[in-house]
Amino acid sequence: MRSVDVQDTRPVWAEVSAGLLRQNYRLLRRAAGLEVEVLAVVKANAYGHGATECAPVLADAGASWLGVTSVEEGVAVRVSLRSPGGSVKPARILVMCGVWFGEQAACLDAGLTPVVWETYHLDLLEREAQQRGLPSGSIAVHLEIDTGMARQGVSPGTALENVLTRFTPDSPLLLEGVLTHFASAEVLDDPQNRRQWTAFASALQQVQAAGLRPAFVHAGNTSGVDSGAAATELPEMARGMGATAMTRAGLALYGHALPLSRGAEEPASHLPGLRPVLDWKTRVVSLRDVAAGATIGYNATFVAPRTMRLALLPVGYADGFRRALSSTNAAEGSAVLLHGRRASVVGRVSMDLSVVDVSAIPEVQMGDEAVLLGESEGLVISAAEHARLAGTSVYEVLCGISDRVPRLIVD
Ligand SMILES: *Cc1c(COP(=O)(O)O)cnc(C)c1O
Repeated sequence: MRSVDVQDTRPVWAEVSAGLLRQNYRLLRRAAGLEVEVLAVVKANAYGHGATECAPVLADAGASWLGVTSVEEGVAVRVSLRSPGGSVKPARILVMCGVWFGEQAACLDAGLTPVVWETYHLDLLEREAQQRGLPSGSIAVHLEIDTGMARQGVSPGTALENVLTRFTPDSPLLLEGVLTHFASAEVLDDPQNRRQWTAFASALQQVQAAGLRPAFVHAGNTSGVDSGAAATELPEMARGMGATAMTRAGLALYGHALPLSRGAEEPASHLPGLRPVLDWKTRVVSLRDVAAGATIGYNATFVAPRTMRLALLPVGYADGFRRALSSTNAAEGSAVLLHGRRASVVGRVSMDLSVVDVSAIPEVQMGDEAVLLGESEGLVISAAEHARLAGTSVYEVLCGISDRVPRLIVD
């Protein structure tokens, strides 16, 4: 937990609800089914929610695996799991993007479990193990298979064959997990999903044929849980290998899901209980009345068509309140919630400041709370709305809330 008192900062902050995070995690566990372990993804600062704030909450809620991007993030998460009283939550931490030169010592020191696929990953870890005199099978790694994203992972066939020869009985490395990642999990009948499952199945056969018995087989993300693929295909595959099935969920933990699309129709998520965990807030720091014809903001992209009452908010694109949320007289932008009403962004969002129209909300006063993302009196400004205006994804909107916005864990 970050010890920032809202009173001591410029009034821009994000409230992250521990209760809702726990609730979303439990909902995902239920949706994934009893047989499937759910790895809670806290990479990229927990999608902007604060990894060191969220990780202990998730571990308390029962997450036995957490996923981070890098060793650096993993070390910070490991430290966050140590409670002030001295007890340590035993969660495993998967480093999902491999280890880089120089990171291997910190990786082992913090007890992180790296995803590997390049031979240099294996070399680095083996060398470190030798230097430390570690016994065989003492460093658990998870091997990623590229089944059709051409991003990370070793290809089934000869390349996989070669990597598997490295896991000899006297190697310090233990093949604890085998995983893959899907390119289009949210598109239910995309033939690529079938192709990727099939390629994964044949890779698992290769692993078995090499005499290796990984304890975990994992695949899939939020959309995999949502579509049910994680609860059906995955356990069957894992069972066949005597392994535990695991899926990796990020976006849904934070209360968001992609629409599952099948052809033209777009059925909503099957995870209707999910609730966004983060409310992004600020306060009115200045108010002014302008006459018709007044120009507002950089480049005067908005000219007051009538007398207007404007509220100034101390938030801008340097905080992740994107410039694409700006408006002109011709095109509406986003809005914020003030007194349970929408107050439209007027003119350009600038680096540190934004102006909103409060002409229709006469009760607005200096210091009033404005909701940038979240709910107020039944109205919602969603990350999806920001994403739509910015021509991007909910993922990018959430990750884009910048470091200078303090994250406060609330109940
Ligand atoms: C980010 C990530 C996930 C989680 O994806 P969501 O869509 O956020 O649930 C799962 N697996 C891997 C390998 C990832 O990088």
